[in-house]
Amino acid sequence: MIIGVHASVRAGLVWALEEARALECESLQILPYPRHHDPSVEELAEFAAARRALALKILLVHSRFVPSLASREPRRRALSVAHLAHELRLCAGLGGDAYVLHAGAYSPGDSFEDGARAFAESVRRAICDARFSGEILLENVPGGGRRMGATLEELAALRDALGAGVRAGFCLDTAHAWAAGYDLSRVEGVWRLLVRARRLLGEDGVRAFHLNDTRALLGSGRENHWHWGQGRLGTECLGAFVRREEFAATPAILETPKEPGADAANLALARSLAAA
Ligand SMILES: [Zn+2]
Ligand SMILES: [Zn+2]
Repeated sequence: MIIGVHASVRAGLVWALEEARALECESLQILPYPRHHDPSVEELAEFAAARRALALKILLVHSRFVPSLASREPRRRALSVAHLAHELRLCAGLGGDAYVLHAGAYSPGDSFEDGARAFAESVRRAICDARFSGEILLENVPGGGRRMGATLEELAALRDALGAGVRAGFCLDTAHAWAAGYDLSRVEGVWRLLVRARRLLGEDGVRAFHLNDTRALLGSGRENHWHWGQGRLGTECLGAFVRREEFAATPAILETPKEPGADAANLALARSLAAA
């Protein structure tokens, strides 16, 4: 796997690249803009140039927040489409290799199918408005309530709703899968998930991973990303992922908590297990 981290853009977009360089990451994930700051064309160009100067193989851009793309409320939905289109333009401007998106929730009274249809329609409109030609990766979520995309079956249904005209793949998050009831604490559980993913999401449907340990309980629907080796998934899970040869060219992003030295420690563990 091409291992990297999610880096904050709080101090500026280029600063995230600096972090990737310092940590010797081959892949990186960022949000498309720092809070309350819309990057200028110049800033995007500066970022793209700085990125080219690094040995960074893959850059993922993750949606800033979960938009209400499946909302029944026309105004909310229109705002979400406009927001998504804006982020897709920024993703392209930053030179992102793919854009990672959570599907969000469907409206009260709707079914999952209604929600998937509305979500897909909104995404297609945003892609068209932004003239986005890149890849969109649907991420699995912890689930709970009306949130869509907790299971592999739901992810497959969301992709089917988007249709063949949309370049869509998947990003699998280990902490979210655990929260949704997939037991990944043992190597057999990891294999089972990957076999099912291959069957339901396609031969190379899984385009990225978020490798996170978690403190949440299995099936709890709770997101509680934690440091590797200190949570409920543990090193057997991490090792089972990073050693998969069919994913040698797939980005694996650590979204573990940002404490001093924590990224370096989590990366070191992932790299040592990959080499073992
Ligand atoms: Zn995410
Ligand atoms: Zn994630």
